[in-house]
Parts: sequence; structure tokens; C-alpha cells
Amino acid sequence: MSDIEIGFGAILSENVEEWIPNRETVIECTECEDKLYYKDFTPSNSAFCCQCQNVRVGSYPTTQPASFLTYMTLTYKSAPKIYDISYEEYCKIKGIEFEKKRE
Ligand SMILES: [Zn+2]
Repeated sequence: MSDIEIGFGAILSENVEEWIPNRETVIECTECEDKLYYKDFTPSNSAFCCQCQNVRVGSYPTTQPASFLTYMTLTYKSAPKIYDISYEEYCKIKGIEFEKKRE
């Protein structure tokens, strides 16, 4: 059976058992050391900032046909550190049960 949805729907679909992310992008404020996580950014939660409001994540609607509805925007006064951590580490931070990719 193949009922695999495309794009964001695929993430939500229980039919897609194989899709497990490997990495997570962290946006760390260099002023207050607060960390924002890329996966926390969704179309319905598209505006957030660090504790000191130096780093702000927002969204901007696409102006031409694309497979997504919004661009993620990042604004700041002092440049944040941007780096990747493993998805397993992200799960630990967020208290999510980590599901290992089947080989
Ligand atoms: Zn900050």
C-alpha cells in the first residue's frame, strides 16, 4: 500500500514510518545563550524569539509557486551561532522519545 503524502503532510502521516530526521539545527543567541530549534518552527508557530529578544525567527510568505508556503526569516542585533546537533540529542532536550532509524 502506498499512501505516502508529500511535504509537511508526510511528517504527520503515520504511513511514513521510515522518515526520521538525523540532524537538528540550533540557533543560539550569543547574548542570552537561549537556543531556538529549527523543528519548533511551523506555519502555525511562525514567530518566536530568544529570551533577550536579540534573535527573532519569523516567516515570510512565498511570492512564487513553491512546495512550501513561507520562508523562514531570521533577524538579530548580534549574530547568533548556528549549528547542528544530532536528532537524538534534540529528542533528549525536548523530552521526546527517540526512535532509531531502521537499517
Ligand atoms: Zn537572546
